[in-house]
Amino acid sequence: MYPPLAFTFGWSVGMIALLDAGADPFCALILALRYKDDLALSLLLEYDCALFSSSQAISKKEPYRRLNSYNSILSFALGLYEASDKAKTLIASRLVSHRRRLVNLAAVMLSSTERQNACMEAMSDRRLPDRFAKPVVLALRKKGIMVPDVLWPGDGQCSIYHDLNMTLRIAEQLYSGGFQLVDDMDETGVTPLQIACMTAGIYKERWELISWYLDKGAMPYFRNPNQPKTCYLAITSSLSNERITDIKKSAESVIRRILGRTYDLCGPEIVDSCICYCSAYGCTPVQLLHKRYGGDWSWTSAKFNHWAYLNDLTLMQKESCGEELCRLEIFERIGMAHTCCEFKHNPCAYGERLMPSDEDCHELREEDKYFSQALELYMCIYRYLRREHFGPFSNFWCSWWTTINEILPEKAWISHKLGGHDYVPNIDEIRSSVQSELRNYNLEDYEDVFLDSISMFS
Ligand SMILES: [Zn+2]
Ligand SMILES: [Zn+2]
Repeated sequence: MYPPLAFTFGWSVGMIALLDAGADPFCALILALRYKDDLALSLLLEYDCALFSSSQAISKKEPYRRLNSYNSILSFALGLYEASDKAKTLIASRLVSHRRRLVNLAAVMLSSTERQNACMEAMSDRRLPDRFAKPVVLALRKKGIMVPDVLWPGDGQCSIYHDLNMTLRIAEQLYSGGFQLVDDMDETGVTPLQIACMTAGIYKERWELISWYLDKGAMPYFRNPNQPKTCYLAITSSLSNERITDIKKSAESVIRRILGRTYDLCGPEIVDSCICYCSAYGCTPVQLLHKRYGGDWSWTSAKFNHWAYLNDLTLMQKESCGEELCRLEIFERIGMAHTCCEFKHNPCAYGERLMPSDEDCHELREEDKYFSQALELYMCIYRYLRREHFGPFSNFWCSWWTTINEILPEKAWISHKLGGHDYVPNIDEIRSSVQSELRNYNLEDYEDVFLDSISMFS
């Protein structure tokens, strides 16, 4: 299963002899990447190695089988842990030169009408065709012109930037080489920026790439119905499974800056259109970050505080995010079922959004009707007590949750709801408990308010 070329690693003379005799460098290229043999790699690339291959040509056996799931050798190298930065750079520059050759060939061989028909109208400048390189090859072949196999641009329906493992360095290299369409959509409507946002994580490299796409004019709004609608929401949902409190100091300032930038870009349209009792108007960022998480309260609370810090939330913003989180947390603690979006954490699907069917949604909401009243009651008590307390939000927040943790068990992800009565809050009990907790912070007297003066509780 290894080609003869595989036995010439470390022996350039032998490798050159085989390549001169016509050995196909393609399969050996993968081994060169695996063995981190950059010398062999550059030699193989010089021998006009194809960088895209039709899937029929790829062996079903290891180590080539994995290649089937990649669009190109560049994509394979980007996803390969062993591949060195130099190797990726070498492949990217070879890819640029292949595409340039194709453009030059088309410039000589095709009339301007033919070029236009092959989606090449804008090729008078230095730009290279990316997703639409295939029609150029087909137009040339139709005219009976021999196009070398190495110039075949692959069958993929996405641009060169549609890559889960794209790095800033390679993106910059491709861009300056002529691949300037950084905001193209693939056949499902996903853009490269969207992929970078859905996989933002906690390492700064991904964030720098997001920033770069935005610098290059990528749209911060997304049109794919199965994805978060803005880059800010996409980033937030990518963080839902991350330990954001563990972000390294070196990454923190980058992350904070880009969170601020994307928030400013997307701010007013920050809610999606989900219908669920867990939110008042659709999933907000703080809900995307916390829902279905399953951590205990101390972790959830730490996550929330760190989120507020990273986003530089004002006191007012933190206050309203706190209320959203409170609704979500109580919703989950009383065992209600979400009918809002869920993001699939499948790296290949870039975090696709799953929606329950209308029928399921309706059924679940009917089942939870009673619980939703309990939830509303909790929220009324929350707002009421918050208004009653004039001190800082953080004090109220801690006191509230100390009390709630006593009354409502932390999320147990119960499949069966317990008797609904266990969850009907008693405002007097909550109020006196919250107030006694608050007394730990200061000794100011609380005005006595008659609860039944509020219609909700009468
Ligand atoms: Zn929900
Ligand atoms: Zn949603």
